Amino acid sequence: MPVELLGKSAEELREFVASLGERPFRGAQLYHALYAERRFDFAAMTNMPAALRERLAREARITPPRIVRRFPSVDGSIRYLFSIGGAIGDEGAKPAHIEAVFMPREGRQTICISTQAGCAVDCHFCLTAQLGLIRNLTPGEIVGQVLVALEENREQLAPQTNVVLMGQGEPLLNYDATMAAVRILLDPKGVALAPRHVTLSTSGIVPGIERLGKEKVRPSLAISLNASSDEQRDALMPINRKYPLDVLLDACRRYPLRPREYFTFEYVLLGGVNDTPEDARRVVRLVAHIRAKANLIPWNPGNLPFRAPTAESVEEFQRILVGKGVPTFVRYSRGQDVFAACGQLALMGSPSPFVALQ
Ligand code: SF4
Repeated sequence: MPVELLGKSAEELREFVASLGERPFRGAQLYHALYAERRFDFAAMTNMPAALRERLAREARITPPRIVRRFPSVDGSIRYLFSIGGAIGDEGAKPAHIEAVFMPREGRQTICISTQAGCAVDCHFCLTAQLGLIRNLTPGEIVGQVLVALEENREQLAPQTNVVLMGQGEPLLNYDATMAAVRILLDPKGVALAPRHVTLSTSGIVPGIERLGKEKVRPSLAISLNASSDEQRDALMPINRKYPLDVLLDACRRYPLRPREYFTFEYVLLGGVNDTPEDARRVVRLVAHIRAKANLIPWNPGNLPFRAPTAESVEEFQRILVGKGVPTFVRYSRGQDVFAACGQLALMGSPSPFVALQ
């Protein structure tokens, strides 16, 4: 059975080539071709001899996520619907559909990727929650979304790439695979992204936050806060009953931030729910003594029973936080017309069984 190579670390590739009787530096060449050059076809790995490439084609395979459909937005973003799993001889990897979004901007591109197919966390403002958890992604399926999106847009790439783990799934509930992928993304010999350009967003899985704090190589951390009290957060994000605000924020206070590193608190503003000046003042108190910045994300009207906040309430919310020393930015979601915006990644328009969600 051919061995799947996508998602393997430098060490694992070295071991793999050693099992073929090859010298260890061939593993490093394979790693470079896969992640730095984004070559998914052994024949194109011209940094290795032809005989080895032919052997690899027999003994191994590289299976990037397959693009099922592209949804280009008027704002230049592209939402990708990928199909994963189900390869011949790979009965363990259940076929599933996932999504990623490529967002070009002046001087950089941001790629939002998924870490699970569906999600078990059940945030009430999120369409992905309606899918439930289908399965965890493998390291190759996670890193593969970045490689394919970069390759697809090769002609128009800006010098800087940001990756946000904010698509389908809760990354800290698929910890090992997510971190294996992140290590490849951050490895200067791999995809070579800067740690401050890779952001993992969590709904607040406290044991995962504590574990992440002990990692030598780790991404920036964003906490999806979205509420100013336990009562409100319990109603919006049931995970809060397991890890209430005092426990979550205590974990943030204990997190070993590096010099110049910040927490980002993501706050989806839902009109009439969590967007009052009193909410803003409570948020200020919650994040006191944490080196934090806040991203306010005005709700995107969708299929869920929430409404967008008014422009005045967004402005006032931001003014209160900034006035109390919390750097605060308003992030308008990209790709709203193709359901690529925050909380909207639920396979809209997909020819998958989830088409019922349309
Ligand atoms: S917001 Fe994130 S953690 Fe919450 S249900 Fe959606 S995908 Fe899961």
